[in-house]
Amino acid sequence: MSCTLEELPFNLPLFEFGWVWLAGAGPGDPGLITLQTLNGLRNADVIVYDALVNPQILELAKKDAQLEFAGKRGGRPSAKQPDISSRLVALAKQGLRVLRLKGGDPFIFGRGAEEAAILAEAGVPFRILPGVTAGIGGLAYAGIPATARDINSAVTFITGHSATGEMPESLDWKSLARGSPVLVIYMGLKHLTNISARLIEVGRDPTEAVAIISQATLPEQTVLETTLADCAREAERHRVQPPTLIVVGQVVELRAGLKWPFQSE
Ligand code: SAH
Repeated sequence: MSCTLEELPFNLPLFEFGWVWLAGAGPGDPGLITLQTLNGLRNADVIVYDALVNPQILELAKKDAQLEFAGKRGGRPSAKQPDISSRLVALAKQGLRVLRLKGGDPFIFGRGAEEAAILAEAGVPFRILPGVTAGIGGLAYAGIPATARDINSAVTFITGHSATGEMPESLDWKSLARGSPVLVIYMGLKHLTNISARLIEVGRDPTEAVAIISQATLPEQTVLETTLADCAREAERHRVQPPTLIVVGQVVELRAGLKWPFQSE
């Protein structure tokens, strides 16, 4: 690789032995990783990565780095959270430099806080390296601004999937519907029928614009523009593939005037 991190006009932190770096890999496009994460990739002895991490990003690892998969994939049972955290502790205690690599940002619907808390409890030193979350980077690649001055002064990130896999009932959907002009829903495809029906029930306009961004920032990216009333049906009809972001709000309409080559049809 011709990238020379050593030539930067500032210093990146030294990856010390026995440390865990909890890093975001961004939404997919390898160009969206940060210099901090690149530095982690270049120096880690072991990389424990999730399913949503683009394999191309792993190619930036040292040649002899050990790569460990720790996520869900195609129906295989997922690694249990306590297992992953204990594994990180064990690897760090062996004196290895451990990069824990997660899709997007580790602290946005990524359980980064749970892992960091266990490291802290075990006395393992760690760093948090933020990443571009899919709800920001993915929207940009679709040509949808998360905020626009004349439309919304607030944007809300929501998970469409609770810890048990159900639609999150603890959410105050009524307040969300009334209080936030733009909703960005992660993990929402499975429960989209219920989510969209609930939003309409608590007062959102059935004709409101919705975009469903699939595989955002990757060459396979697709964007389906629809409405709140039709979105679940349309997603099924177009066989939209996860991972997806669902954007509800008038900002979706700005896309038409913001065409750029990557934003897909
Ligand atoms: N920590 C991650 C989110 C993990 S939850 C982040 O900050 O982005 C996983 C969910 O993120 C997916 O179900 C999907 O809703 C969203 N997501 C992540 N990458 C995505 C991508 N490339 N395209 C669309 N959605 C994505």
